[in-house]
Amino acid sequence: MTKSVDAYDVIVVGAGAAGLAAAAQLSRNGKSVCILEARDRVGGRILTVRPRGAAIPLELGAEFIHGESPCVFEQLRLAGDVAIDAAQTRHRAPQPGRLKQSEDLFETMKQRLQRIPKPRADLPFAEFLDKHRRQLSPTVRSFATMLVEGFDAADPMRASAIEILKEWGGGSAADAPTFRPQRGYGALMDSLAGSLDPAKACVQLDSIVNEIRWRRGEVNVSFTRHGEPGQVRASQAVVTLPLAVMQLPALAPGSVLFTPSLPRKQLPLSRLLMGPVVKLVLCFSRPFWAEIEDGKHRDVAFFHAQGAPFPTFWSTLPVRSPVLVAWSGGPKALHLVGRSTDEVLRPALQSIAEIFGKRRDYRRMLEGVYWHDWQSDPYSCGAYSYAGVGAGPARRQLARSVEQTLFFAGEALDEEESSSVGGALNTGQRAALELLQSS
Ligand SMILES: Cc1cc2nc3c(=O)[nH]c(=O)nc-3n(C[C@H](O)[C@H](O)[C@H](O)COP(=O)(O)OP(=O)(O)OC[C@H]3O[C@@H](n4cnc5c(N)ncnc54)[C@H](O)[C@@H]3O)c2cc1C
Repeated sequence: MTKSVDAYDVIVVGAGAAGLAAAAQLSRNGKSVCILEARDRVGGRILTVRPRGAAIPLELGAEFIHGESPCVFEQLRLAGDVAIDAAQTRHRAPQPGRLKQSEDLFETMKQRLQRIPKPRADLPFAEFLDKHRRQLSPTVRSFATMLVEGFDAADPMRASAIEILKEWGGGSAADAPTFRPQRGYGALMDSLAGSLDPAKACVQLDSIVNEIRWRRGEVNVSFTRHGEPGQVRASQAVVTLPLAVMQLPALAPGSVLFTPSLPRKQLPLSRLLMGPVVKLVLCFSRPFWAEIEDGKHRDVAFFHAQGAPFPTFWSTLPVRSPVLVAWSGGPKALHLVGRSTDEVLRPALQSIAEIFGKRRDYRRMLEGVYWHDWQSDPYSCGAYSYAGVGAGPARRQLARSVEQTLFFAGEALDEEESSSVGGALNTGQRAALELLQSS
């Protein structure tokens, strides 16, 4: 006896921001949709936790809305949530003896960079900085490196100088106004999933896709659910797998096999990179940073210690709480992945001592540590994408549909807001529209 295969109009692979946005749009337009998600939850790289007693949602993945991202604000409106303006961006860095206000180096850096002719041929960002060391002071160079590593989660030896300069030359997310969803990004994802018409769309969790077999007008997807093989069929599919999963060699553990393969995707896939981030949410018994030096730093949002294993910390301002977030991105973060909580906590507390002084027992004040190892997680294999040398049109090429049958979405494919939730939502909606127009 042969087992019948469930059939839909569209299969969406992945229930992160991109997959949910695509599914919502498709089901609203009358398509029957099956969403296959490997994890036991929706949201992907959005992971909001609210431990008992916590006054605010804690974000282990995406946290900020960078700039006035139209897609995110529209989702917030639909979810009945609001954005908290996190504009209190006063920064402090330790200098001999005391914590001092850090100079606004972003503007200085931008002005210095504008005086340098744009490179005609792409090169690694670190080489670009070195080439122009006469025009760029050591302070500006080390700030630029910190930003590329910390904000873009990129390795300056591999990141595209052209793309970084383009990002900083326009309205860069790095100095755009920032917001947070008041109820956390998780609530936004729940609302998006809740908006799916149950008569039209089903979300199948714990379903690890291993093969997408396709030909024009037909897609068969094989997956494993609780150790049992399964299969669904549709006329078209929207694939929202994270960049690093798409980059896995065929037959490597965790890879998704395309049959037939997609040779035109190989070059753009090789030009983009996935950046690592280790983010720890530290809940203390009290906000000690707001109390030191007679409360001088109570309105400071960001604290920096450039050479430390965790070079950046932030508070939850404007909401006052005893929570401090530790952030390490790029090559520094690679030293921290695959470690136990205690192994990442030690360098985090050491970094705190570098910023706030060595006299306090920070570990005793600590009541909870929350984090997720995105790099070791086989369903993300990293935090978010960045452009490698020669990336040029890679994001656009990856987003291109194949034979009006396979459509692609995900943060790495967006040219406007890549690496962010906004970028993921944009591409999900765009792929759905493209699919609707094709059929
Ligand atoms: C620590 C951290 C901090 C961040 N901070 C911010 C921030 O402040 N602001 C911001 O805008 N963005 C931030 N981001 C980036 C943001 O989270 C992502 O850009 C966005 O959530 C990506 O959405 P996506 O739908 O493209 O991918 P994902 O959310 O990764 O969705 C892809 C889905 O595919 C699923 N999947 C993978 N493999 C399979 C398989 N074989 N079978 C079935 N399903 C599979 C995954 O489980 C996942 O649910 C951060 C990310 C991290 C990790």
